[in-house]
Amino acid sequence: MTALYIVLTISAFAIIWILSSNYRKKRKRQQVASQPFPKEWRQILRNNLPFFYKMPADLQLQLKNKMQIFLAEKDFVGRKGQDITDEVKVTIAAQACMLLLNRATDFYPFLKTIVVYPAAFITRHNQYDASGIQSNEPRVLLGESWNRGQVVLSWSDSANGGADFEDGHNLVIHEFAHQLDGESGVTNGAPPLSSQQNYDEWSKIMSHEFQELRRKASIDEDTLLDKYGATNPAEFFAVATEIFFEKPQELKNLHSGLYQQFQQYYCLDPAEW
Ligand SMILES: [Zn+2]
Repeated sequence: MTALYIVLTISAFAIIWILSSNYRKKRKRQQVASQPFPKEWRQILRNNLPFFYKMPADLQLQLKNKMQIFLAEKDFVGRKGQDITDEVKVTIAAQACMLLLNRATDFYPFLKTIVVYPAAFITRHNQYDASGIQSNEPRVLLGESWNRGQVVLSWSDSANGGADFEDGHNLVIHEFAHQLDGESGVTNGAPPLSSQQNYDEWSKIMSHEFQELRRKASIDEDTLLDKYGATNPAEFFAVATEIFFEKPQELKNLHSGLYQQFQQYYCLDPAEW
């Protein structure tokens, strides 16, 4: 009886602690988002992110609020002499927060730090090739997303992605799509869906489109989606997210089922912007 009493007491305290910390987090976010958006940041949006002013006014406002919260909560670290200026932070935050618009979601809950290099960087992690052989050969990368706590980005490629939002390539969107995907615990192209979205339909369309891209990649046929998406389902999800935001009309025309799934997942219809 005493043991049961202790367990119940501990559980009650744990629940109260979780509820009160969620409440404090929510209040803090409301306070941060209610602050005026700095005029220097607005200038950076104007200079570096021309797509921002093409979005509907309500989404522009929402994006600015989300950026304020994102920038208050995440740390930025520069490597290889990269300075972390407001320009770096705002340019990256604006693109990362595009994936959070209209969605009842947290702010990349596993992510703590964004590491920024001036340009492409060399990494030497253990990896497996297609035949399952492990190696730690150095690789040159533009970006990386880690399951626990980090996104690594090349600043010059992050800036280019913001400046040209119609070429179908966006490094920041790609790496942050991996973060969303990883919220299920594994990064495998199957992010947690909202209760309104049907998992069977999602996986049927995603696996059909992934297999089609693999087939076309194998015969070198032209594709709207970058063939890097044929690497695995996680890369497919990230590459398709880039196209959803950067070439929405083409995606809607050529892959209407995929567009519809992404429209439901991201709660956005960028083809209408
Ligand atoms: Zn990737």
